[in-house]
Amino acid sequence: MPEIQLLPDLLVNKIAAGEVVERPASVVKELVENSIDAGAGRIEIALEQGGRRLIRVVDDGPGMDSDDLALCVQSHATSKIRREEDLFGIRTMGFRGEALASISAISQLRIVSRQASSDEACEVRVVADRMGSVTVASGPPGTTVEVRELFFNVPARQKFLRTAQTELGHVTEQLARIALVHPRVEFRLTHNDRVVHHLRPAEGMRSRIADFYGRDLADALLEVSRDERGLKIHGYAAPPAESRSSGKWQYVFLNGRYIRDRFVTHAVREAYRGLIEGHRYPVVFVSLEIDPAAVDVNVHPTKVEVRWRDSNALYSQVLSALRDRFLNADLTPELQTPGSDSRGRTKGRERPDEKVRSSAGAGFAPTRDGSCDSAVPGGTGPASDTDLAERRRRQIRESIADFFKRSKPTPGSPRAGFPGGGVPAGTSGQASPPQPPAPVPLEPRDLVPTPAGDEPNAHAEPLACDNVIQVHRSYLIAETADGLIIVDQHALHERILFEQVAEQFSRGPLESQRMLIPETIDISPDQVAVIDTHAEVLKQLGFELTPYGPSTLAVHAAPTLLKPERVLEFLRDLLDRFAVRSAPASTEMLTNDLLSMMACKAAVKAGDPLSPPEIRALMVQRHRVERSSSCPHGRPTSLRLTLRDLERQFKRT
Ligand code: ADP
Ligand code: MG
Repeated sequence: MPEIQLLPDLLVNKIAAGEVVERPASVVKELVENSIDAGAGRIEIALEQGGRRLIRVVDDGPGMDSDDLALCVQSHATSKIRREEDLFGIRTMGFRGEALASISAISQLRIVSRQASSDEACEVRVVADRMGSVTVASGPPGTTVEVRELFFNVPARQKFLRTAQTELGHVTEQLARIALVHPRVEFRLTHNDRVVHHLRPAEGMRSRIADFYGRDLADALLEVSRDERGLKIHGYAAPPAESRSSGKWQYVFLNGRYIRDRFVTHAVREAYRGLIEGHRYPVVFVSLEIDPAAVDVNVHPTKVEVRWRDSNALYSQVLSALRDRFLNADLTPELQTPGSDSRGRTKGRERPDEKVRSSAGAGFAPTRDGSCDSAVPGGTGPASDTDLAERRRRQIRESIADFFKRSKPTPGSPRAGFPGGGVPAGTSGQASPPQPPAPVPLEPRDLVPTPAGDEPNAHAEPLACDNVIQVHRSYLIAETADGLIIVDQHALHERILFEQVAEQFSRGPLESQRMLIPETIDISPDQVAVIDTHAEVLKQLGFELTPYGPSTLAVHAAPTLLKPERVLEFLRDLLDRFAVRSAPASTEMLTNDLLSMMACKAAVKAGDPLSPPEIRALMVQRHRVERSSSCPHGRPTSLRLTLRDLERQFKRT
């Protein structure tokens, strides 16, 4: 008696179905993909009970004749490939010839199809893999596939099905993944005869994004486009203020198919680094087109993962496409006022907490010492939606009142040690005491606006450097062409210093200054180990540290950027940070972390009075620095209040 046996067909197909068909949404995916492959212009999806009782997909495609109808439900039957070579030129969504066979093994399947040239339709039924004969039927040109009682013979799978509403949610997500990249196809999704989505043919992805996720998000998106070395990238990236608390708002498509890809995900993450906070996720829709020969799509049963021939090129092209776009964009978020556009309209699927967070993150409240590390968006912990709205309203009232009340900038002597605090020639009559040499000069250079394109951030506001006032020793308010901006002085200065110091660092070790008398710092033995581990990076950053007894460290030199009185503070913070969480994975991340800590320490704080020349210098730099719209930790440096918002608030419109 042989041990090995060939499995019966039904079992083979059930096993295949196990890979492909997890829930009703998987069936919808396979059927809709077939309709798209057939070239349909209109696809209707009808569900009953979340798809558990019925899934019907009707298309207006070319249909099948009776021979094809008999074949299409067989396993390994496909019209999409013929030879092995075809595997490297796949342009269709399907090619395995398994979907209909698999589905027929675990449901009651009925297909009616009619070719346009034919007067009558033909029909086939398959129940648990047993196919009836093909019969004549009536129906319009196109194909209708009906799947009833899904998993009726697979109780294990049935148990995993969730409520109709949840299954409908999965179907909607699946539909989005297809409809976003096929905007010209019309889709209609109904559930228990109620219309859930009716997507009319559209020009491009943006209007489909509006259909699924709301017009506000769609309008806010930046279009990204690049065609280079055989890879076409087209997509939409949301400004940092639209970030989300989960990564599921990242849609990547390859040659018209939704995929998950870690290289693209990394590139996106990297492109947004420093623009959004570490625990937030950007919203992006990226469609890639590449010669099918450059990628293997035959590595995953539902083809959601692929293997690239040149993943490095892919990574760097996606990264630079996004980065270049951000350089040419003004990413300053709009102040969220209760009456402003983006709050007035309800968002498609946005959860209420999402918006509250992003607007809270854009709130006014500085942290106690104005530094970033301890800052939590919104400042004061959990607050209800109404609390936040009320607080925002109050903040806006106060700031605007301040804005109109103050006719003169805050007088006050320039802050000691403020880089570039000297009075630039011909700017102000106010005397300022001589400043120590500025390690990273923040000098008001020529203030003539340069033509757009010349400067990294030349597209931002027209240079708003005069008539800038400081309020609460924390914020700078400036007039712009269409309203006003409110700048967080610490966040902006921190961003400026970070960009400068990161640029210096990319060219070599940071400038370092020797101490006349070495400072000492008491540390624990495990902290000695931490310092040891990062010795090389610390040296590159301009530190010279030597052990001075078993639990003491002597600091002989420190980066010029840090004022002497901040050096020990910086080292203590650094040690604290590594005590709480382990060091970042890569040297690059570690360096970035340390550079941004340094920028934070060196920057002016909330509460520091600034002289007019200092204010001016900051505002000039705002226009010169990349990514000036957010601090290195990803929080915004500035908020914009448009005249339109003001008029609405004052009920002038
Ligand atoms: P695959 O899509 O991988 O080829 P399927 O099992 O999904 O495998 O479909 C088998 C074949 O049935 C397809 O190759 C196609 O020729 C035909 N077919 C399926 N659905 C349709 C449809 N809606 N319109 C026309 N032909 C279809
Ligand atoms: Mg298919």
